[in-house]
Amino acid sequence: MTIMAERPVSLWPAAHAADARRPRSQQTKIGASDTVCARRAGYLLHGRTPTDGGEMRKAILGTWLHAGILAAAREEYGWVIERRVEDDTIRGHIDAVQLDAHTASRLPKRLRPSLPAAETTVVEDVKTKSTYQWDNVLRHGASDAEIRQVFLYADLLRTEGFADIKGQKQLAHLGPVPVGRIRFRFLNRDNGDDHVQEMAYSADRARGARWWVQQVRSAESPEELPRSFPGPGLSAVCDNCPFKTACWGSVLAGRRPQSTLIHDDAAREEALAQYVEVTEQMKPLKERQKFLRAQLDGSEEGLYGENVLSWSGGNPVKVEDVDAMVALYQRAGLTVPMAPDAAAMKAQLKAADIPVPVRLDPDRRTSVGINVTARKKP
Ligand code: SF4
Repeated sequence: MTIMAERPVSLWPAAHAADARRPRSQQTKIGASDTVCARRAGYLLHGRTPTDGGEMRKAILGTWLHAGILAAAREEYGWVIERRVEDDTIRGHIDAVQLDAHTASRLPKRLRPSLPAAETTVVEDVKTKSTYQWDNVLRHGASDAEIRQVFLYADLLRTEGFADIKGQKQLAHLGPVPVGRIRFRFLNRDNGDDHVQEMAYSADRARGARWWVQQVRSAESPEELPRSFPGPGLSAVCDNCPFKTACWGSVLAGRRPQSTLIHDDAAREEALAQYVEVTEQMKPLKERQKFLRAQLDGSEEGLYGENVLSWSGGNPVKVEDVDAMVALYQRAGLTVPMAPDAAAMKAQLKAADIPVPVRLDPDRRTSVGINVTARKKP
């Protein structure tokens, strides 16, 4: 009997290779979608070579979902999808534009949407998220970085129109397009839930987004630019960043990347003081949270005001069924391994009042905890 089955070939290496050949993966100029982190935008703008491969599976799944849902919007509603906008400083690919009826009437009939926007042209951006991020999406909507990106698209469309390139000449002939609204369409990639957030175009916000790009462009080196995220291990954006080693440097084994930010005792003293301050601020909140959790114990699941209560856990725990494994081995004619029963031996030694022998395991370490106490007064 064969217990180990041969693993089928994985298609992820092929997916990564195909993704790396996409024009957006290869561009070195700053794009609107690169404006998530100032330092990362700087690396791209200065043509730095990525230092890290990064895990791209989630991003690739997002790309595939984008392609499917945007194709449906084009086929069913005639929306303009995946079109380039650019000026001298920045460029981007807008996911979808729902033209208003007046603007659409200036296009040849075959390019007009069957479902134009009701009042004003809408620029739409599709964002795929996991269930883990979904509550944040419903509560807070798009992040500042996501809003900045779409305001850049909308502003480019309002000032320049669609880029005059092959495949979108008719759209480019429209000239500047009067975008009036921004729309985010969030898609839960685990269960298909969607959530739409809309906002009016704001010249102030567009100016803010342009100013952000200007700051990145005026920096003489990427290292002058701030890190917009707290680093690997603390931010998924940094974990998957192609420049994380360039940004955080090589870290001593066993140390966290953020430890490279402390260069001397003065910086250590400052970080320690802030650590104590934050801990003290959190203490009453944590106590209040524990008290509230205790009050809710046993409450029925359901919708209460703006929040949905549900419970998880409390299920029987699965353990390995050794008897079933032995039976499986015996049926297959395999030798059942006989390992010493450590738990029974420990119990026997303890009953006889004999200390259980221990040794240091060179491959395992206890977790490191930080202890901070007040300095003794002289
Ligand atoms: S590692 Fe994080 S902070 Fe550094 S460039 Fe990348 S995203 Fe920005």
